[in-house]
Amino acid sequence: MADTCRIVALGGLGEVGKNMTVYECDGAIVVVDAGLAFPRDEHLGVDLVLPDFSYLRERASSIRAVILTHGHEDHVGSLPYLMREVPIPEVWATRLTLGLVKSKLDEQFVRMAHSIPDSAAVVLETPAGRIVHTGDYKLDHTPVDGLKTDVGKLAELGNQGVDLLLGDSTNAERPGFTQSERIVGEAFRQIFPLREGRILVASFASNVHRMQQAVDVAVDLGRKVCIVGRSMRKNTNIARNLGYMEVPEGVLVRPPELDEILPHEQLILCTGSQGEPLSALTRIAYNDHPAIHVERGDTVIISAKPVPGNELRVHDTINQLAKTGAEVLHQEIAPVHVSGHACAEELRTLLSLVRPKAVMPIHGEFRMLAAHGQLARESGVPAANIVLAENGTVVELSREGVRVVGEVETGVTFVDGLGVGDVHDVALRDRRRLSEDGVLIVVATVAGSDDGTAGPTELIARGFGDGSGELLEELREEADRVLQDLLHNDIVEIKLLQEHLHDELGQLVYDRTHRRPMILPVVVGV
Ligand SMILES: [Zn+2]
Ligand SMILES: [Zn+2]
Repeated sequence: MADTCRIVALGGLGEVGKNMTVYECDGAIVVVDAGLAFPRDEHLGVDLVLPDFSYLRERASSIRAVILTHGHEDHVGSLPYLMREVPIPEVWATRLTLGLVKSKLDEQFVRMAHSIPDSAAVVLETPAGRIVHTGDYKLDHTPVDGLKTDVGKLAELGNQGVDLLLGDSTNAERPGFTQSERIVGEAFRQIFPLREGRILVASFASNVHRMQQAVDVAVDLGRKVCIVGRSMRKNTNIARNLGYMEVPEGVLVRPPELDEILPHEQLILCTGSQGEPLSALTRIAYNDHPAIHVERGDTVIISAKPVPGNELRVHDTINQLAKTGAEVLHQEIAPVHVSGHACAEELRTLLSLVRPKAVMPIHGEFRMLAAHGQLARESGVPAANIVLAENGTVVELSREGVRVVGEVETGVTFVDGLGVGDVHDVALRDRRRLSEDGVLIVVATVAGSDDGTAGPTELIARGFGDGSGELLEELREEADRVLQDLLHNDIVEIKLLQEHLHDELGQLVYDRTHRRPMILPVVVGV
């Protein structure tokens, strides 16, 4: 076991989201990133999705640190939940010393350009060899803050020898290069001066450079800036305090002050680029925002790409905004968004700089990982040294190379409101059934004595049937028949009555409609 390093992804493989990779050498564990995922359609009503921490819980005493590559939720979002469950001695995201390595921290983080400032790749010196974990990146040559991906450092690492590269695969299927963030600023500079109404820009609250570029153009044109949405206000404050964002005095105004300002003197930055139901932009689109309205002559720029699964909600928002008469610009019709992730040519460049002996693609659905693997192969990494792993695959790096040595169980933990991990499959199944097949509620009263008689049965149906009432009438008759039969046979136990109603009405509904609504029989004894 000496001189080996085990690598287990607890999230981030086979998906874009909840990135978390465990590195385990000589009984010491370092975790790179602790992210969360946002629920997909099948996770009805769930707020957040976390990695399953069991693997770490079982090895809690071995954990030395969690290292964070950058501040996106899919990399840091589950940290508070993890720290509640497992003692984490240290979190390294800034200038601290890496316990496994004997050199200074800034030699262990490599600066990478991404859609949030201060992103980094992590270099792990392990007994089994040198590992580079890129985090999310692109090779932006003209980043807004001037801080480019440190290709010099990457090349230097390549010269020293890199045994294993774990690299961002998100855009591996897309040919060419990802455009510079500055393209979006140039688009703002083209668009803003031609507009005579309000301008709204919706983006991710963490995209500090995007907001900065919009603010810069607005300031030049004499527009005031109003920031709307809790997360965006919070992030702007943090970014300004830390010096990552600059807004001149007197430019920012609060939403109620907009009444006093002419539309062509306003820039509104807001959340809701994903069509989130309670976000500022959605409320504005449905004319349900207390301070902000849009109308003909206004321009709304959606400066983000819908995360897979959110497309329909974003399209709804765009349609709704268009109905107000406002002009809506989005990434499909104007260059108002660029990705934060490297495309194929950049991945090739990184591979040729780092010249890793082995490659393990991370951060992406399996097809993206496979495309990244193919690029590695084309750049000369032998097929046997390319590991396409899934969440839970145990990968071992040793002086002999890299190989899969096993598998551990991984899953997900759901966060629903204030509860963590208490939404079970049953609840999800119920929610799915409610959304797809509807619900039938049957309320019956029976006289509680042995000579039980039933009162009139009431039925409430939602989400199935043809609306004619015929099926409901048939179900009511069937319910009465079932109850009479049971009572005749001296079956008066409420639980049994409910079970029979459930099964027999369920069968009838299925025969008539081929649907399986949730059936809730409520039998009351009087
Ligand atoms: Zn990211
Ligand atoms: Zn990410």
